[in-house]
Amino acid sequence: MGIDSSKKTAVVAGAGPAGLTCALYLSRAGFETTVYTDEERSLSQLAMTERIENYPGFPHGVDAVSLLDLMNEQAACYGTGYDPAGVDSIDADLHAAKLSTGKEVRADAFVIAVGAEPAVFSFPGSDRIGIHTCAVCDGSLYAGLDTAVIGGGDTAFGDALYLAGICRRVTMLIRRDVARVSNDIALNAAMGKENIDIRWKTQISSIEVADDRRIMLHLDNGDSPLTVDGVFSCIGVKPRSIAVTGEKNGVVWECGDCRPNAARQVSCAVGDGARTALEIISLFQMK
Ligand code: NDP
Repeated sequence: MGIDSSKKTAVVAGAGPAGLTCALYLSRAGFETTVYTDEERSLSQLAMTERIENYPGFPHGVDAVSLLDLMNEQAACYGTGYDPAGVDSIDADLHAAKLSTGKEVRADAFVIAVGAEPAVFSFPGSDRIGIHTCAVCDGSLYAGLDTAVIGGGDTAFGDALYLAGICRRVTMLIRRDVARVSNDIALNAAMGKENIDIRWKTQISSIEVADDRRIMLHLDNGDSPLTVDGVFSCIGVKPRSIAVTGEKNGVVWECGDCRPNAARQVSCAVGDGARTALEIISLFQMK
């Protein structure tokens, strides 16, 4: 595909709040914009969340997947195209991106908005069990059973509360004696739940799979081993990236949670997507 000289073209990699907002603004400004996302590899963090309660405009909270669907629909209303392929690499000098399908696409502007993914947890024996990183995706596998949640951040408390509605018992294993939460709402809710047991200053030292296929977690603080059916790891996120060669300036932009030190809030990702689009639009208006 060559660059259409009559219309500016944009490739947005990533279909989370940052990418979709950037695509919405670019499409409305007349850019022929396509959002690329390989859902197997780069599921938006929003799709792994149950409810969002701090996104403005929804005083009673909003279902995260519905919010993402609305963002998709709004971008599509203004002409944003969608291709379920990942962007593997970008050659800024050639204005070309290689897709996971092997195809190459060309554009005037490329936006990397591929978000972040859960950090991987490992400890002796962890390779012998499947450790989950998304309660909304996998929690229903453990209906009526016992689970452990590792971590003491906003994700861990959100996931523990979600699992508490499905599981018989949820044990949170937090390595320090303080939580790393942005506010106390979920922390207080978890402390008030009868089927959530919060273990402070507790880490897993090793793991064993019992004969009955249940999972035995050995703990580093001398407590007796904890036996559960499923383990969820919520120990933070690491930004995703796309390899870029050539001179990025004026060709390739990054926005949202794939940027270092991003605030990792939906409203911040939306703002970052809009800011990036405005920067691109004003640059091309001047050309
Ligand atoms: P965080 O980095 O905020 O928290 C990670 C947690 O895992 C901490 O308790 C950390 O402990 C613990 N941890 C890290 N490594 C290990 C390890 N090897 N073993 C045991 N525990 C470990 O990650 P989150 O995913 O919770 O949040 C990421 C970002 O997303 C944050 O900015 C958060 O505010 C935001 N977020 C916001 C939400 C909201 O607004 N509702 C919902 C979800 C996420 P320690 O503190 O000791 O390092």
